[in-house]
Amino acid sequence: MPRPRLVDTHAHLDPSFFGAEVGDVLRRAREAGVAGIVCVGTDAGSSERALALARSGTGLVATAGVHPHDARSLLDPAATRAFEVLASGPGFVGVGETGLDYFKDYAPRQDQRRAFALQVRLAARLRRPLVLHCREAFRDLLEILDAEGGREAGGVFHCFSMGPEEAREALDRGFHVSFSGTLTYPKSDAIRAAARFVPAASILVETDCPFLPPQPVRKERNEPAFVRHTLERLAAERGEEVPSLAEAIAGNAARLFGLPL
Ligand SMILES: [Zn+2]
Ligand SMILES: [Zn+2]
Repeated sequence: MPRPRLVDTHAHLDPSFFGAEVGDVLRRAREAGVAGIVCVGTDAGSSERALALARSGTGLVATAGVHPHDARSLLDPAATRAFEVLASGPGFVGVGETGLDYFKDYAPRQDQRRAFALQVRLAARLRRPLVLHCREAFRDLLEILDAEGGREAGGVFHCFSMGPEEAREALDRGFHVSFSGTLTYPKSDAIRAAARFVPAASILVETDCPFLPPQPVRKERNEPAFVRHTLERLAAERGEEVPSLAEAIAGNAARLFGLPL
């Protein structure tokens, strides 16, 4: 039986994290069976670099977004226009990551909400999936998503960190739910309950590298090759075989992001 095709649907391979090692990181990913990677932007500059990287290799796609931590960089009218032009470009497959982060609160919440609403409207207009980041802001995030046409865009709740009830709210809106290395952490019982609950047609897996390495490699810098640890735990929690779950997830990622698998 051929080796399952793995995907990493959320990676930050920016040189600011990996320097000149990106080539080695991509090689190790291929050797580990990772056939597709979504390179995620967090501001205008990193979105441009994600697109350049995606164009340089096979099995790579890029999204353009402004992270809630960087919300203020989007709110000046000239910056808003420039970002909308950039993100509307034909190379990008989604809008994000974007959302709300009331845990770190690096940007004022009012600014986060404005920057998020703007990106939801953009994604709805472009009919491109949203990559959502949400920490301790679920009610506000859903309110903006619903008010600004988020259902027209669809997308994914990345690095899902809540339980089955919240997963149901995401699924009710037609969104996918993506699990990261946090699934493997000892205290993540609620996340594991959500992982058992989400139907296979709506599930994704990611590293969110260089952050959040899965438990077996928790002391290392995370990278796409490590996505298999999270996939293996996901399969175990769900009582499924790794190859069939990997294929289902690869199909979901290909449909949502147009990953060339
Ligand atoms: Zn995030
Ligand atoms: Zn991220």
